[in-house]
Order: sequence, then structure tokens, then C-alpha cells
Amino acid sequence: MNPSLATLDELSTLGALGNLGTEVRRHLNYTLGHHVKNADQRYLYRALALAVRDRLVGQWLETQTRMADKASRKVFYLSLEFLIGRSLCNSVHNLDLTDDARAAMHEYGKGLEETAENELDAGLGNGGLGRLAACFLDSCANLQLPVLGYGIRYEYGMFHQRLENGRQVEDPDHWLRDGNPWEIERPEDTRRVRFYGRSELYYDADGVHHSRWVDTHDVVAVPFDMPIPGFRNKTVNTLRLWKSTATDAFDLGEFNAGGYSEAVAAKNMAEQITMVLYPNDASENGKELRLKQQYFLVSASLQDAIANWKQNNGKDLTKFGKENCFQLNDTHPACAVPELMRILMDEHQMSWEEAWDVASCSMAYTNHTLLPEALERWSVALFSRLLPRLTEIIFEINRRFLKEVEAHWPGDADMKRRLSIIEEGDNPHIRMAYLSIIGCFSVNGVAALHTELLKSGLFADFYELWPEKFNNKTNGVTQRRWLAHCNPGLRKLITEAIGDSWEADLSSIEQLKPLAKDASFRKKWAAVKAENKRRLADYVFENTGVQFSANAIYDVQVKRIHEYKRQLLNLLHVVHLYDRICRGDSEGMIPRCVLVGGKAAPGYFIAKLIVKLINNVANVVNNDERVGDLLKVVFFPNYRVSAMEIICPGTELSEQISTAGKEASGTGNMKFMMNGALTIGTLDGANIEIREKAGAENFFLFGLDAAEVPVTRQNYNPNELIAADSDIRRVMEMLEGGVFNVGEPGIFDVLLSGLRNPQDQWLTIADFRSFIDAQQAVNEAYKDQEHWNEMSILNSASSGWFSSDRTIAQYADEIWNVQPVPHA
Ligand SMILES: *Cc1c(COP(=O)(O)O)cnc(C)c1O
Repeated sequence: MNPSLATLDELSTLGALGNLGTEVRRHLNYTLGHHVKNADQRYLYRALALAVRDRLVGQWLETQTRMADKASRKVFYLSLEFLIGRSLCNSVHNLDLTDDARAAMHEYGKGLEETAENELDAGLGNGGLGRLAACFLDSCANLQLPVLGYGIRYEYGMFHQRLENGRQVEDPDHWLRDGNPWEIERPEDTRRVRFYGRSELYYDADGVHHSRWVDTHDVVAVPFDMPIPGFRNKTVNTLRLWKSTATDAFDLGEFNAGGYSEAVAAKNMAEQITMVLYPNDASENGKELRLKQQYFLVSASLQDAIANWKQNNGKDLTKFGKENCFQLNDTHPACAVPELMRILMDEHQMSWEEAWDVASCSMAYTNHTLLPEALERWSVALFSRLLPRLTEIIFEINRRFLKEVEAHWPGDADMKRRLSIIEEGDNPHIRMAYLSIIGCFSVNGVAALHTELLKSGLFADFYELWPEKFNNKTNGVTQRRWLAHCNPGLRKLITEAIGDSWEADLSSIEQLKPLAKDASFRKKWAAVKAENKRRLADYVFENTGVQFSANAIYDVQVKRIHEYKRQLLNLLHVVHLYDRICRGDSEGMIPRCVLVGGKAAPGYFIAKLIVKLINNVANVVNNDERVGDLLKVVFFPNYRVSAMEIICPGTELSEQISTAGKEASGTGNMKFMMNGALTIGTLDGANIEIREKAGAENFFLFGLDAAEVPVTRQNYNPNELIAADSDIRRVMEMLEGGVFNVGEPGIFDVLLSGLRNPQDQWLTIADFRSFIDAQQAVNEAYKDQEHWNEMSILNSASSGWFSSDRTIAQYADEIWNVQPVPHA
């Protein structure tokens, strides 16, 4: 067949390609120059990935044409992070190629899963926020929405975590080491991004004055596209990741004082921008390079979106805002507001008013946290040196905004000071959240409680000014990765019971509810969990050398290590169980395997010390003969997406124990629920909605709620609580007596004195009694396995709301105003 006669659609079918096995052989041999016999695992992975990618390309091109032709409005998801993980099995499953891929690998004596293990995680994110962006793209493709992701192609992703004497050590993550078969470089769409220099005024031929940004240091942004396949729907969306490189002019122009070698060396400065992901979750560090990354992403992406729009609609940008929407994943890309203003005014000669009409109707902001240390603020001094023209624009946005404040609260100088984008002082700062609220038409929180707290607390004044901007979009996760792919046993069982429609639309999983009462179904459900526990136990053993026994409760807390998430509270409970065992008070105690995992930000001293304490406690407990199989504790190293894919199916108890009011939503909680774990948790973030959907009787609740937390803080006396409760007292005595730091005197003192401090932000001791009691309720509930399995089924069956498909459908309806553009 002459390929030029084929439509794009036809190219995507098997007609133009050989069978998958043939294609794997061809890539192994011709693309990779490899022997077909005794193929090295990593080459086999690459060949399979390339063969699968070939299957995506036709649908990918067709989707681009379809979206360009038919979408009346387009959405761009701007995020500094996309925590993708692996792509092979996701693509294979979404394209329904599992049997073909399995057969192709069989020829080499390999399994599909075994081969897939060779893919390095794309760890271009820290935790929940980055993983959310990845789930969202998957859901947008599933719903056939015209949404493009824009991000940064970090050369080094999230660091690799290793333990040395129980302490975290960070190693660089060179995930591109073996190349990335999922990306395609698009040099034709290269964009130029400017930094430094100064802003100057000039008059055009008609005597109208304008600003321009001159004497800049320029960097080039080169896009790499990754395919985002929908679920068996012939739609493949795009994630466009930018890499920074030097311009020729930059080398020779700016550095012409030096010689050739100096000019080449200058290339490094440009390439640094996308070299490494900042490993801070829920905290900001104010580094200039980080601001460069933010502006680099924003400027390249806006230029790209505008260039694309002009290709179809011509030079006039007055309608650009009506037909395009930018969703800002937290304030990290908040420069988009002034940058779009700059482009429209300085490069397209729009007036301020015209430009503001376009910009302010095209931007939407998602807030992810209430923690003050995570709210981005940039020093005006730094910002104006790096982005002088943007700084002018931000000040003008603020000047006009403060006039609105004056109109609403006449004569209230304090209100102006409080709401100003500029935080005044010796070293004035730009508040990026305020810039975002002012510049965006939508501000959303990520769980019902979180949105209410935004409206009543952090952003209360803005809520009074613009109530219509505020809305909630409770987070979700994709059931394709977090149930169908990671839990094949449960996928099969669910599909046998209710059909497979839940993979495209999770609301149908509620059909499982009546089966919770069916003893034979419960038995099958339990068998799948037992197999997943075995798989998890093997994985734990490989990675830690600790043996988990089959009959224990698998009790798991995996997430970034942070004080507000209270891994310490979990550990206090472990020490309490250990204390009971040591005292011979273990009657009726069900064996427990406690797994904790997560990375600490490299500069977060307390979090790193918590990692060390967990490891020290594990070391003592696991080596004490009196304990035996009753209690095992491990710190699982290098927690990441591919680890979670094995951990969550094998988990029975999901620990979601943050101080109420601190966890915006959580998404780990949803992955566990889908996979039939029961939650022990506080009334925080999406836990509240999980409990509502699952039923209070299928959830282990404990602790203060968000209203009680600030009241308790007012006269919090942890020492009194410790003295009054013998269980708590003994736990503190063990810890303070140095049982877990023999030969390392005093190393945990800051943690322990923190627990006793009346100023303890996290109220750990306040919730400890209630936590012990809830854990005891878990212990009792587990004794009735029939009932436990019933609760487990009901949790899975109630998880439909927590599909990111539901979340994205709401974004599309209520914020973006975009419709699906389905394949005919
Ligand atoms: C889901 C996920 C998270 C988010 O977990 P939370 O418990 O919601 O904080 C973080 N990291 C990875 C690798 C994940 O898969």
C-alpha cells in the first residue's frame, strides 16, 4: 500500500505495521543495532516501547488534527511537575495490546511485567501535586478533551533515596540515561525566552508610547512531546516538556569578550535551567534558578499556544482569551498572568484594558495548600532583576487592584496593606497567590474542606470581594493506573462480576456493593488481597531484607515525609505496640506489618530525623526475639510511583493521619481505597469525602477536627496529657530513655521535645490517645475477616467519586467550558 494514500487514521491501524512481535524484532535489529538472540533486557524493553509507540503515532497525529479542526476552545495545563512514573504498561493496556505484547516477549523467554521493570520512572515531580497532573492528563485523554500539558523536561528528576545507617542519602536521578523512547523532539517549535536586561519606553510612528524589554540574555526552549493515550478511544493527547539550551547569539554576542571556549562554556548557563527538579514538597526556597524555571515554562508555553492559535485564526488576538484557557497547577506558573499581558501589550500593541480582558478571562488557578511556608513569595529585588518588564506589569496590576479595594472598603488602609500583591517591608515581596487570585477568573481548592478553609481563612477577603471566582474540585486518581494496571487480580475479579465499563467510567464500580454480602465473592476478594500481600511481602524483602508474614495486618503510610502528615504519630503507635509486647500485654493482638515510606526534602532537617527514627525503631523491634511475628516495621526506601503500584494493592490499612486542616486533599488515600484498603484517618482533606462515600461504619476515624484544632492550640499542654495516660507515658519513657538510640545519645531530642512543646503545631500528643483507640478498633475488626472483607469491598465499591475522570469532567464543565472532541 502506498502510505501517501492512507489517511492518518489508517496508519494507526495494524494494516501499516507488522504484528507487534515483528515490530519488536525490527526495532531491536535495525533501530537499536542489536542481536535478536539473547537480547539484553534493557534493549528488549526499548524495542517493545518503540513498537508500542509506533502504534500510538497515527492516533496521535489524527488527534492533533481533530482537536485543531473541531475544538472551539482549548485548555493548557501548566505545571512545574508531572510525576508520570512508567509508561509502557499504561500504553499497552490503553491500546489493548496486552496479549500481543506478552506474546512478543514470550519469544525471548521474558514476561511483559519483567520487561516493563526495565523502564526508569519519569519522576518529574515531588508527590501529590505532580502525580495529580499526570492523572489529570490521563483523564483528559480518556474523556477526549482538547487539553495539552505543558511542563519542564528536567534532566534529573526527583532524587533517588538511599539509606545509610538509617539516614536518608540523596543520589541524582539521571532518568534519561538510557534515552527516552516516549518522547519526540520538535525543534521546529523552538521558542526564545528572555531574562535580565531592562524595560524601556519608546514612541511608535503614531506617537503612541509602548514599553519594550531590551538588553536581555536569551535562552532557547526546545519542546519534547510525550504521547498521552486515552483508554481504547483512538485519542492520544500530548504532554509538551521544554528543555533549555543556549542560543548562538547568546554564546557569541554576550560573551564576545571571551574566546571561543568561554562562549561554549556559556552554554551551561542556559542548560542549567532545566537541569534539575527542586525536591521541595509543600515548601518554597526562593532560589533564583527556581524562578527562572517558572518563567521559562510559562513564557515558552504561552508563546507556543499563541503561535498555534495565530496559525488558525490570524494575527488578531482579541478572541484569544475566549478560546483558550490556562489552568495553573498551584502558583508555580503564576508568571503566566503578567507574561500574557506583556505579550499582548508589548508584542501585539494592545492597550492595557484590551490585554486585561484577554488575560483575565483565560487563566484559572488551583490552590494546593494552606501551609504558610508553601505560599510562594518572591523578593521584588530578585524578581525585578530577572524579569524587569514583568515586575512593572505586576505593579500596575496591583495599582489598579488597590483602586478596587478602595472602592469596596473605602478608607481602609489596613485592608489595602493586607491584600496588596506586594508585601511591604525592608525587603518587599511579591505574593504569588494574590497575583493568581487577582489575575484568574477561577480559584479552586482540591477537597471540600480545603475550599471552605480557603474561603473562610487564607483568602477570606478575596472571597468577600469575588465570591463567584471560588469553587471546589475534589482531587481524583486514574483508575486505569491505580486499579486496572496495578492490581490485575482485582481487575479480573471486578470485571467478571460487573463487566469492564468501570475502566472508562468508575461510577459503575458501585455495582459491587451488593456483592459485599455474597460470601463466595468475599472469598475471591480475600484471595486476591492475599496474593497482593504476597507480592508486596516479596518486594519488601527484596528492598529491606525484612520478612512480612502472610497473616499480619499490612499497615501502610507512604507519602512525603512532613511534620503535618505526622509519620511521628504513626511511629508512636508502633512504639506503643512494642511496649505492650515487651510487657507481655499482647493478648488478642493481631500481628502487624507496618510499612512507612517517603522522601524528605534534602534541606528539611526534622523530616530527615524522622526517617532516622523510623529506621532505628524498626531495627530494635525487628531484632527483638520477644516480638517475633507480632510486629514488623520497615522504612521502604525510594518511594515512587512504580513502588506505589505494588504497595497499594497489598495494603489493608491506609494511614491518613495528618493534623486536621493541614492536608489539602491527599490522593494516596484514594488509591488505597480503590484497592480495598480501609482507612484510619482524621477528618482532613478528602478523607472526609472518603468517609462519607464509604460510610462512617467502614472507616476508622480518630482525632481532632479542623474546628477543634485551633481551639486546642490555645491551651495545649502535652506534658499533662502524657503524665495522665500511662500508655502514652511509657511510650515517651522508652523514646526518651534512649531505647532506640543506643550509642547515638541525644540524636532524637529535638523530635521528642517537639512533642512535649505546647507550641507543637501538629498536636501529635493531643491525638495520640484517640489514635491508639482507633488502632485497637482496627485490631478487633480484623478478627472478623468476613466483616473486614465486606468493609473492604464497600470501600472499593464506593470509590467511584475519586476517579480523576470525575474531577476532570467537573473542571471541563465548571471552569474550562470545553466539550469532548470524540473520534468519529
Ligand atoms: C499518590 C502519590 C503521592 C501522594 O500521596 P499523599 O498520600 O496524597 O501525600 C505521592 N507520591 C507518590 C509516588 C504517589 O504515587
